[in-house]
Amino acid sequence: MTRQVRVGKVLLGGGAPVVLQSMTSTPTHDIDATLMQIHRLAAAGCDVVRVAVPAKEDTAALPELIRQSPVPIVADVHFHYERALEAIEAGVAKIRLNPGNIKERQQVNEAIRACKQAGIPIRVGVNEGSIVERQDKAVRHSEKQELARDYHGNLIQLMVRKLEEYLRIFEENGFEDVVLAAKSPDPTIVIDVYREISRRFDFPLHLGVTHAGPPETGRVRSVAALATLLAEGIGDTIRISYAADPIHEVEDGQELLCCLGLRQRTGPELIACPTCGRVEVDLLTLVGQVRERLASIKSPIKVAVMGCIVNGPGEAEGADVALLAGKGKAVICVRGEPVRTVSESEMLDALYEEAMSFANRPRSM
Ligand code: SF4
Repeated sequence: MTRQVRVGKVLLGGGAPVVLQSMTSTPTHDIDATLMQIHRLAAAGCDVVRVAVPAKEDTAALPELIRQSPVPIVADVHFHYERALEAIEAGVAKIRLNPGNIKERQQVNEAIRACKQAGIPIRVGVNEGSIVERQDKAVRHSEKQELARDYHGNLIQLMVRKLEEYLRIFEENGFEDVVLAAKSPDPTIVIDVYREISRRFDFPLHLGVTHAGPPETGRVRSVAALATLLAEGIGDTIRISYAADPIHEVEDGQELLCCLGLRQRTGPELIACPTCGRVEVDLLTLVGQVRERLASIKSPIKVAVMGCIVNGPGEAEGADVALLAGKGKAVICVRGEPVRTVSESEMLDALYEEAMSFANRPRSM
């Protein structure tokens, strides 16, 4: 089991539930836009939100963001150690800081000391890009030669070695509130590097696949790595990162944690048949309508939407409530038993009523 750190009111590592994170995409100094995004992310299930602080005007916005945010705020610091000091002073719950991109060691030490004094953790990470594109030409040349021989295996060793180098700085400062990350766009590297890190260190691990792209391509890439690691018990916090509205990161992260049984659903789990030549309705549109109609239900019920009445009952087996939609009419089943036959125009309301009634049943039923 990993050690535990505290990120504001959220516990991370040490057996605590896996924490879901995301990052805002608004300019942090635009307080209204950033707060609006933070609230949307938190409402979708995000536990911790990270904001970029590239400039002083961004750290200046932090006190107000922290004051109004429903979840702890983490400052993402690159290159300027002054931003780290300002963010800590503003009261962030954690910072992300990579010693590799802050020039002076003394400046890194200063940021670490400030976090120690404030009692907040630091996320330290490496990623494939920064290792391969190192600025130190001599090291870069030998590392590139080494990498060329066995890119996958040696990259993992290099990433771990780099993390060890960074961790020495934290050790020398007597600082242990560290969260580790090692990211790559390649899910197989992510899986292997985190397996290696979890064997070597007991710091909490932040999982992610970097530069995963838009949800259409990044979803499978991210889930392949994160689900594998989480199923092995590796990972204390996750961020799925997309080139898109971050709400998609949270929705998919939440779904992943629920699918793995690491988080309880707070609303209906919707399943739908894949459709086939027997389909009698526009199932795709219907699923969207059902999702919308049931959105206000805050209980973890399983709802199935099936595209025909004949085969639907068998295929909807296991659902709490099922809508079997046929030509002009629909059958609603509760726990496999047909309870109502309604017209097409009534089916959404009828499904909602049955789903609500099921959700309100005493738990033992
Ligand atoms: S429920 Fe009906 S339409 Fe859907 S896949 Fe099964 S047989 Fe096909």
